[in-house]
Amino acid sequence: MIDRFERNINYLRISVTDLCNLRCRYCMPADGVCKKRHGDMLTEEEMIHAVRAAASLGIRKLRITGGEPLVKKNILSICERSAEVDGIEELCLTTNGILLPKMASALRAAGVKRLNISLDTLNEEKYAYITRIGRLKDALAGLDAALCVGFEKIKINVVLIGGFNDDEITELAKLSVKYPVDVRFIELMPMYDSGDFDGSAFVSCETVLHALPQLEKTEQDGGVAKLYRLPGGKGKIGLISPVSAHFCGECNRIRLTADGKIKPCLHSAEEFSVRGLDCEGMRRQMEQAIWNKPAWHGVLSAEERSRAGRNMNQIGG
Ligand code: SAM
Ligand code: SF4
Repeated sequence: MIDRFERNINYLRISVTDLCNLRCRYCMPADGVCKKRHGDMLTEEEMIHAVRAAASLGIRKLRITGGEPLVKKNILSICERSAEVDGIEELCLTTNGILLPKMASALRAAGVKRLNISLDTLNEEKYAYITRIGRLKDALAGLDAALCVGFEKIKINVVLIGGFNDDEITELAKLSVKYPVDVRFIELMPMYDSGDFDGSAFVSCETVLHALPQLEKTEQDGGVAKLYRLPGGKGKIGLISPVSAHFCGECNRIRLTADGKIKPCLHSAEEFSVRGLDCEGMRRQMEQAIWNKPAWHGVLSAEERSRAGRNMNQIGG
């Protein structure tokens, strides 16, 4: 569907759960999230209705995210059924990778074509610090498992955090030389309550260009990342700058939260509920959401934090 600003909205991200097996400092509070009542969350049936409604409006690409989607008990069934919906051409999933050793192959079989794995550091202690409870070796085992399974594309997401991983840009980027993966550096967004980091932790993607002068510009793929390649790189380097150079003019996505709210914009408080509706009712709400998608997300800075009213784990990054 084309929105008021002539953008073709063809991409839906579904957060299948707020819950997570990690507690990344920029994403969620230390004590996790209050488990919501079962009845307040979308059922699997409702998620599939939502995918059908979205596909009927022209959504072609679907990303399953969270929270951590792989802690969701029925994740394989959700993936399999979503991939089969008429009109859905590409099913992608974003994960912290911890559960991939036992699930990578089943996810591929369930129709997941592309995988994004989040990895902010290659240092064991720093990984334990940033995730509060995670072990680097589990995430790396997840990456290994994913590489063995034959996904069409694997991308590694690195959130740039000043004073934390800006000294590891070269090492992280080299993963794209060692493995056939794209490495994407993402600017830290000042979310609702990601209180561990203030403005001093913000590092713009320009820093990556300074750290890696050998980067060569490469063909762009129409996505939000500016793409480069290291000499000899099997994969690309992507720079995603939602804060320093927003890409709202090309934004083609809407989001569905695990409690059934369509968010036309990641950083706006506006939400359209689809829980409890049939496919036609969901379609109408989605149309409204797309029509009301704002032109841009407004200024984001340490002082002007996201107006989403939720943390990232409750929206789906
Ligand atoms: N648990 C999965 C994971 O970590 O990949 C999926 C959900 S997570 C919310 C999706 C992505 O959002 C991750 O790559 C994460 O690093 C990113 N993210 C979370 N909070 C962020 C923030 N404040 N700024 C930028 N990216 C953020
Ligand atoms: Fe969990 Fe992903 Fe958020 Fe980390 S970024 S706490 S892994 S949802």
